[in-house]
Amino acid sequence: MALSKPITSKLKERSRTFHEEWEMQYCFTESKALKPICLICSTTIAVAKKYNLERHFKQNHSSINKNYPEGSSLRAEFIKKKKKKYLVSRICL
Ligand SMILES: [Zn+2]
Repeated sequence: MALSKPITSKLKERSRTFHEEWEMQYCFTESKALKPICLICSTTIAVAKKYNLERHFKQNHSSINKNYPEGSSLRAEFIKKKKKKYLVSRICL
């Protein structure tokens, strides 16, 4: 709907390295400290590099891809639930 983006959003995003698609791909979201945090085991990755997230996901949560295939609605639902849980726990802390 919005055709023009405010200029300030560009400046804000300058230092951000987290990519939104990592959420669906590797079950990561961005923590308060702007570091990628695993939605499954709450592990924080120090360096927001795709390789680091991919490695963590494959080594620790490879079953997710079997049970919730990438791109499926099952996967989307799973991530949504995990993220909600994470956001709630973040408020409580
Ligand atoms: Zn994890």
